[in-house]
Amino acid sequence: MRFLACLGLALSLAAPVAARQPPPVTLQDLAVKVESARLSRTVDRLASFGTRHTLSDPVSTRRGIGAARRWLAGELQALTQIPGSRLVQFEDAFTAGPGPLLPARADLVNLGVLLPGTDLRRARQALVVVAHYDSRSNNAMDASSDAPGAVDNASGVALLLEMATVLAAEKPAVSIYLVATAGGAQGALGSARLASRLKAEGIEVLGMAAADCVGNILGPDGGKNGGAMRLFSDGVPAQESEGQKKVRELLGTENDGSGRELARYLKRCGERFVENFECVVMLRRDRLGYLGEQAVFTREGAPGVRVSEYADPFDRMAQDGRPGAPSRDLPSSFDAGYCAKITRVLTTGFRQLAGAPAGPQNVGLSGCGTPDAKLWWTLPDDPRITGVVIYRRRADGVQWQQARAFPKCESQVLPGIGTDNDVFAVATLDAQNNESLPVTPGSIEY
Ligand SMILES: [Zn+2]
Repeated sequence: MRFLACLGLALSLAAPVAARQPPPVTLQDLAVKVESARLSRTVDRLASFGTRHTLSDPVSTRRGIGAARRWLAGELQALTQIPGSRLVQFEDAFTAGPGPLLPARADLVNLGVLLPGTDLRRARQALVVVAHYDSRSNNAMDASSDAPGAVDNASGVALLLEMATVLAAEKPAVSIYLVATAGGAQGALGSARLASRLKAEGIEVLGMAAADCVGNILGPDGGKNGGAMRLFSDGVPAQESEGQKKVRELLGTENDGSGRELARYLKRCGERFVENFECVVMLRRDRLGYLGEQAVFTREGAPGVRVSEYADPFDRMAQDGRPGAPSRDLPSSFDAGYCAKITRVLTTGFRQLAGAPAGPQNVGLSGCGTPDAKLWWTLPDDPRITGVVIYRRRADGVQWQQARAFPKCESQVLPGIGTDNDVFAVATLDAQNNESLPVTPGSIEY
């Protein structure tokens, strides 16, 4: 034993310099780096501006949207200065209104960072996470009353800054935009601006999430639920042609919009790295009666999800049914440990997806009326692809139930598996087992 120990020491001393380099950062490492204390600090500071209403004081150094915006810009700038940081500050000033929730024309600013992708062939593809940084009181037009907005939505901004902190030195294949958006309570104005700007720049959004209310664990009945989060997404595409609709109905993929696949992806990844935490894939596009910031992206065809805490504290939300009463959305409502769990889910999920190879295209299905389903697809020009994964679940299933990996190929017959009882999807795979979003068939042959 002594000899072996000495031999091991000798070998380690003789090892080349490269072998002593720090091991690559894993998704688990990233999850561990998320810090509750930093999340709390962001929420406390944003709430301290009294109100962040879109039309509140733009010049005060202590109160209102202007002070909050300048503080946020400073925080984002500091993130670009972290040793090893690859982040690039992103700032986009624009005007909006008048509109139903904005009585006059107003100056707004989206603020964020961009983590640039490293795959030059995919320079026009990106992932996006947004969180609105404005707040509101009971009356959406009331720009002067207190609206600390600790949970709605300083918590989302805290998540965003923490993701940026943890991912700062990462080198994903495709870019990640992390953007605090303006005018959320005025009709998702900042997200609409961001979506149209990215479209104008020819950026294809491969996946996006809107983090909105991600820090409360107290339910309306007073019970606590800190063990779950919600992922809302479209079951069917927000936009589809008559032809696409017809094929979707033939295929029975009404529970498989691309946003739903992203929700399942985030669940699969997040639950690996956050113990005793359930990512609930809600089979609806948003909270009842609401349509969040993700909608402006899904309307453009991007896979989008809304990410929210599991329980809504109706008596402490902005619209709490007590007109004129002071807001109860205070930092005391914010649970930093809980928000850290949601942050870990998004950080690991988006990092994995940003490092995955390009997804399959033109996925089709045949084999109807035979015992063997057949799938085919086109592989994009991405040399990192080493294989594919075929996902399958029974047609009454919510999550994918089986995943089979195959070496690089563009079709596969599944012997003994008929088409009638199952739903299928195909994802690409690289040598490190990074997977693209699964793509369900968009065509069918008889
Ligand atoms: Zn909100």
